Amino acid sequence: FTNLKNVDIDVYEALKKEITRQNTNIELIASENFVSEAVMEAMGSQFTNKYAEGYPGKRYYGGCENVDVVESLAIERLKKLFGAEHANVQPHSGSSANMGVYLAFLNYGDKVMGMNLSQGGHLTHGSPVNISGKYFEFIPYGVRQEDELIDYDEVLEIAKREKPKMIVAGATAYPRQIDFKRFREIADEVGALLMVDMAHIAGLVAAGLHQNPCEYADFVTSTTHKTLRGPRGGVILCKEEHAKAIDKAIFPGLQGGPLEHVIAAKAVCFKEALSDGFKEYQQQVIANARALAKALVDKGFRVVSGGTDNHLILVDLRNHEITGKDAEKRLDEAHITVNKNTVPFDTASPFVTSGIRIGTPAVTTRGMKEEQMETIAEVIRVVIEENNIEKAAEMVKKLTSEFPLYQSL
Ligand code: PLP
Repeated sequence: FTNLKNVDIDVYEALKKEITRQNTNIELIASENFVSEAVMEAMGSQFTNKYAEGYPGKRYYGGCENVDVVESLAIERLKKLFGAEHANVQPHSGSSANMGVYLAFLNYGDKVMGMNLSQGGHLTHGSPVNISGKYFEFIPYGVRQEDELIDYDEVLEIAKREKPKMIVAGATAYPRQIDFKRFREIADEVGALLMVDMAHIAGLVAAGLHQNPCEYADFVTSTTHKTLRGPRGGVILCKEEHAKAIDKAIFPGLQGGPLEHVIAAKAVCFKEALSDGFKEYQQQVIANARALAKALVDKGFRVVSGGTDNHLILVDLRNHEITGKDAEKRLDEAHITVNKNTVPFDTASPFVTSGIRIGTPAVTTRGMKEEQMETIAEVIRVVIEENNIEKAAEMVKKLTSEFPLYQSL
């Protein structure tokens, strides 16, 4: 980073510190990952200089022959990865992807069903502080109190009563498989459109380890930076019949020029995701999540729904007399990064919460396996039960030094 150092020492210093933080912390935020150096190179490339409003072959600017190549590669690889008829790789983020579908198919005031935010839904699934909740009438569905699984019978009952124009399936903090086929049946029964937001589980779906929503949904949205392990960004997949409306909604409806440097990095990510090694990685992500959940349960922690089918675990701290907020802070002091999270039927506010969300995508990218998950569970216990930050930080130091990141940088 010599140029950066010479031009802007302040940004350079912050970057150096961030690199150290990523190296020395155990990253357990379920929505984060470490991209490959190839993805980073594409993102930090000259493609950032190019304006390319429009789509490959139909641009509003000259000089688009090379960005057309990378955007077409990204589209074709993404379609292949998920067996989709049409792909749009331009959404700047997962939120933009969701807004693109809403803009294309909903009108102001339309009724939509989405997962209850306090039980795992995302902000863009109808939060009152988000445009989705301000412009549309979102009706929430949720999980059953007994087993903390999505109550599909209740989803059907609400759908029959409310007759929504669209049902949104997908979550940001749900540790189990989602039955997209069942959602399709429910949507068909009431004549609703089905959108699946697979942001969290896209990598697991790409590897064939979770049900592929493209087989059932009218539209599938995703981020590219979570389990999929690409650059920060979004995508939309849909049936050919909806292709025009989706493309028009993203550009010119919602966005201007696409971020072609990010799209180039998305293309690299999708190539990586099509490899055999990627499948093995995703299998290990799930194996690690299961091992970590089991180790935590063995140590007396309660995990929501009793375990996990995916890359994340929700720990309910109500039997440990510590809030999610305080647990996040204390773990941070020991160099373990998690986020506080509401648990189903939480009585604490979303700023405090009674739980933490823990994910394995990033530590798995570092090469950690089941054995290290045991150690991580023990570090979490030392922080939360013993409140011994010094001891925990020593354990973290040893573990992270055994699994270095970005060795060639
Ligand atoms: N959808 C889901 C399910 C998410 O979990 C997230 C982010 O956490 C998003 C959408 C939004 O993605 P972004 O932060 O890129 O806008």
